[in-house]
Amino acid sequence: MDILDRNSNILVVGLGMITGVSTSNFLVKEGFNVYVSDIKPEEELREEKNRLDERVRVLAGDQSQSILDKGFDLIVISPGVPNEIPLIQAAKDRGIEIIAEIELAYRYLQGRIIAITGTDGKSTTTTLVGEILKGIGLDTHIGGNLGTPMISFTKDTKNDSLSVVELSSFQLENIVGFKPDVAGILNVSPDHLDRYKGMDEYFEAKLRISMNQIEEDFFIYNNNDKLLARGLGGIKAKKLRFSLSDNGADAFYKQDSIFIKLNDRIERVLDISRMQIYGMHNIENAMAAILMVSSIMEKMNYDLDVDLIAETCYSFKGLPHRMEVLGEYEGRRFINDSKATTVGAVEMALKSIPDSGILILGGRTKGDDYTRLKGSIKSKIRHLMLIGESSSEFEKLFKDLPYSISESIDEAVRGAMRASMEGDVILLSPACASYDMFKSYEERGDQFVKSFKKLQNGELSWM
Ligand code: ADP
Repeated sequence: MDILDRNSNILVVGLGMITGVSTSNFLVKEGFNVYVSDIKPEEELREEKNRLDERVRVLAGDQSQSILDKGFDLIVISPGVPNEIPLIQAAKDRGIEIIAEIELAYRYLQGRIIAITGTDGKSTTTTLVGEILKGIGLDTHIGGNLGTPMISFTKDTKNDSLSVVELSSFQLENIVGFKPDVAGILNVSPDHLDRYKGMDEYFEAKLRISMNQIEEDFFIYNNNDKLLARGLGGIKAKKLRFSLSDNGADAFYKQDSIFIKLNDRIERVLDISRMQIYGMHNIENAMAAILMVSSIMEKMNYDLDVDLIAETCYSFKGLPHRMEVLGEYEGRRFINDSKATTVGAVEMALKSIPDSGILILGGRTKGDDYTRLKGSIKSKIRHLMLIGESSSEFEKLFKDLPYSISESIDEAVRGAMRASMEGDVILLSPACASYDMFKSYEERGDQFVKSFKKLQNGELSWM
């Protein structure tokens, strides 16, 4: 690692189950003196502590600035911890270097990096890119904000490895030298405005993904996203754009197919009707993935095998909780889109469903502009089932639409069955975080799956 002696003191801030634990264990194995600070008291950190190397010293329930008197040479900040907390501000004042876990991983990583950010579609696109590269037979590691933190696989990488990583804007706030060979921003719509001062600041954080790129690198973006396409003046990497409507783009959608520009010719890569993930947003994600793969192949001087790419795209089933089709009950198709925690994701979900349906909406709001949903809800949704702490706000917002308020997913499903007709879709696409009622969006989605199964087994009566 750069500059630091083995005996240096390093402080990890934020002991999340996944990233904080992996980072601390990694550093202690490298021979550093590692401390980890978390705002939670000792008794709430039992599970995390069980997974920690016993040489890591835990400062539980204490984020007072006096911690810094121990004398740290470096601070590694976990993705969920805001930069604004007093401990981090005080560390800045003392001139201590503060980096994100991805920056730390980058300093140890070998091989090439494809980094993906955006408001929606990151996990789907990251997984698809990784699967395509694996299908080609390359040594590929997939992770970041999704599943495995980057620090957990850095030591497994070699010169010819490829790391495909999903990054959130929070992680990008604390990079220094992180430079992906291929970077992509899928879209930018308002999200996390509870944490950022406004869209500009949020967009700036996302743009940092390209800040260290040079002319030989690639930058992939969505040309239909006006905000994004207009703000890319400062990018040094070679820019490639994908578009649902512009046939001049480097990847574009036409006649139910995806085409890409390869040198001077245009090649048809995918027949959309053969894909198992559906919706226009997934066409965008597939276009982004194809451009990312073709760019990294160009950097490695490999020929592009379009048929092999298509094969993986056709067999890709998508990820759970993202427009996941559960099946049919009494002529209603159930779709679990619990991961839709933003207005942008719900707009996409509504675009992808046929004309009528029931929408289960609500949870913990994140400062989004929910009025943006009014038009598409009006045109597609027969009845709204509101859940979670946003119910009173949404009740006012959507008062001219038929709605009911439910206390649980079971109740929402029961109500949705009553309010729907044969041929309808029953869609859980909440536009909100889940933490008011559930541990995670996964738990929320799993409950929806359970309610669907209960209906099928006759354990949930609705008539
Ligand atoms: P992320 O990792 O950025 O949260 P996911 O791939 O997990 O993205 O998908 C999250 C939600 O966004 C899902 O509801 C999914 O259907 C929706 N979604 C996926 N891709 C896009 C896209 N390109 N634009 C808008 N919504 C999308």
